[in-house]
Amino acid sequence: MQSLSNRAKQIDRSPMNMWERMYLPAIVKGLSITMKHALKKNPTIQYPEQTRPFAPVFRGLHVLNRDNEGRERCTACGLCAVACPAEAITMEAAEREKGEENLYREEKYAAKYEINMLRCIFCGLCEEACPKDAIYLSETFAPANYNRRGFIYGKDDLLIPNPVTEKEAYEKAAGGRVRKEVTVTADK
Ligand code: SF4
Ligand code: SF4
Repeated sequence: MQSLSNRAKQIDRSPMNMWERMYLPAIVKGLSITMKHALKKNPTIQYPEQTRPFAPVFRGLHVLNRDNEGRERCTACGLCAVACPAEAITMEAAEREKGEENLYREEKYAAKYEINMLRCIFCGLCEEACPKDAIYLSETFAPANYNRRGFIYGKDDLLIPNPVTEKEAYEKAAGGRVRKEVTVTADK
């Protein structure tokens, strides 16, 4: 039957002659292919010492963002959870108490925030839906784990380090993806 893709290869099923039964031509051909690849530049990347650059459109692990003063940007509005096609996000809102203005940017904040990385398809819709620039997808991927529970990332796992008190850790976590308005300046 004619293949739909037209990529099917016709196989010659005629009996092998004596020369072919010795397998020498096939062995020589196989060795020549091996030698050709052996002389090529080594394509192996010595991960994790070496890493490949990510494509500009790569979407990795989520980060919950802070503002320049280190306050959490998330207001627990739930728009990211509604936008998520995989229903991977859950959260619990809480009201900011007096004296917590240096911790949370708005009157409401996410007391609990969870993303199930086993459900997530890294589509980036949560980032697009967020009106507060509170969540973005970084250039890191979720590390392997031995149990399913380990793939449920809580707020402690997702929240970016404080840019005021942990400047170095913040810049490392932010990578190249940090938004301009939250980039830490020297006088902050
Ligand atoms: S990247 Fe997509 S699937 Fe993953 S949490 Fe965000 S909206 Fe849901
Ligand atoms: S991350 Fe953004 S969209 Fe999601 S709850 Fe927080 S403020 Fe709302």
